[in-house]
Amino acid sequence: SEPILRISDLSTRFFTKSGQVNAVESLSVSIDEGEIFGIVGESGSGKSVLARSIIGLIESPGQITGGKIEYRNAPLADEFRDAHPDAVNGDYVDLRSLPEEAVRSLRGPSFSMIFQDPESSFNPTLTVGEQIAEAVEVQRRASSNPRSTKARTSSSEYSLGSYAYGAVMPNRSFVSSKSKDRAIELLQQVGIPDPEERVDEYPHEYSGGMLQRAMIAQALAGEPDILIADEPTTALDVTIQAQVLNLLREIQDETGMTVLLITHNLGVIARMCDRVGVMYAGEVVERGTLSDIFDTPVHPYTKGLLGSIPDLDTTGGRLQPIDGNVPSLMDEEMGDRCYFADRCPKAMEQCLEEPDDASVDGGTDHEVKCVLAQTEYDESQALGDSHFGGGD
Ligand code: SF4
Ligand code: MG
Repeated sequence: SEPILRISDLSTRFFTKSGQVNAVESLSVSIDEGEIFGIVGESGSGKSVLARSIIGLIESPGQITGGKIEYRNAPLADEFRDAHPDAVNGDYVDLRSLPEEAVRSLRGPSFSMIFQDPESSFNPTLTVGEQIAEAVEVQRRASSNPRSTKARTSSSEYSLGSYAYGAVMPNRSFVSSKSKDRAIELLQQVGIPDPEERVDEYPHEYSGGMLQRAMIAQALAGEPDILIADEPTTALDVTIQAQVLNLLREIQDETGMTVLLITHNLGVIARMCDRVGVMYAGEVVERGTLSDIFDTPVHPYTKGLLGSIPDLDTTGGRLQPIDGNVPSLMDEEMGDRCYFADRCPKAMEQCLEEPDDASVDGGTDHEVKCVLAQTEYDESQALGDSHFGGGD
């Protein structure tokens, strides 16, 4: 089937005083409906910028400078469709060709996002329940009149995640008892104990793990097709991390929702994902199924990450440092070459030209950006999967 999210040639740059930073560089990736797709990379690889680009939340001095972000079957109101015919291509709409107001109307029903730090995602002056109920009301208005923009965006109290998105602080709005009941249900669904009471508590009365669950509840209020989770468990201790990951999995099983999971933690990838993209210096340098990546990794960078993890269970799967740093991504240092060349033990003359994505044997959709792709694949296969610690 056609992917639910299609990203092609996406570039996101930051225009800073010290120069232009190419945080995402001509990146293409497609996400299938109902899968959990993981993006893994070190900090500074551009993965959070990628996430924010996908939901249309890049703020100045950042800017998406090229490419498309296309959602399939996004419930875009007719008036936006009519006003922006360039944005529509068959079943897909391209976020980049839509005004902010239209993008905002899709946040909730088409996609929503959870972040690493739940505290900054809730307004401290409103109860958790009010904030979830408000997200529910926005969705109700939308589905009672799905083809009208007014249903979603004309109300000034629109605030689904707006606090998190650094936009307006929501007004205390009228919340119907029906929406409050739904908020209680959502809190229950994400495993908040005594939801009837906790619905009336303020964010500071929740523990970090509880607040992370509440953020997931809020993100689910709009019944999104795609949930984007950026380091959703990084701030939590290991036990709570596992619980929140299990919760995400359960919800994904129940709803069939698509999840894009962004993390620096290979253990999280191994336990959660169907397919994986390895990100380095703004590019996806390798992508494939979980077993492609863990059993026959091809890119020297992927091999380095996996080889330096003796046992995912005991290390918590954190990426171990490998020699050197992610390049600073400043413009003058980029250009047509392999960005990993400075750190790569296999680097050679040829690598000073940019490698194309190459498919390798074995995986149905295993692609690698390295001039030695096929050789590295053969070597990886010869070594056998035990060498890399294995996923499951
Ligand atoms: Fe290493 Fe060259 Fe492959 Fe880059 S293209 S990862 S430098 S072998
Ligand atoms: Mg990040």
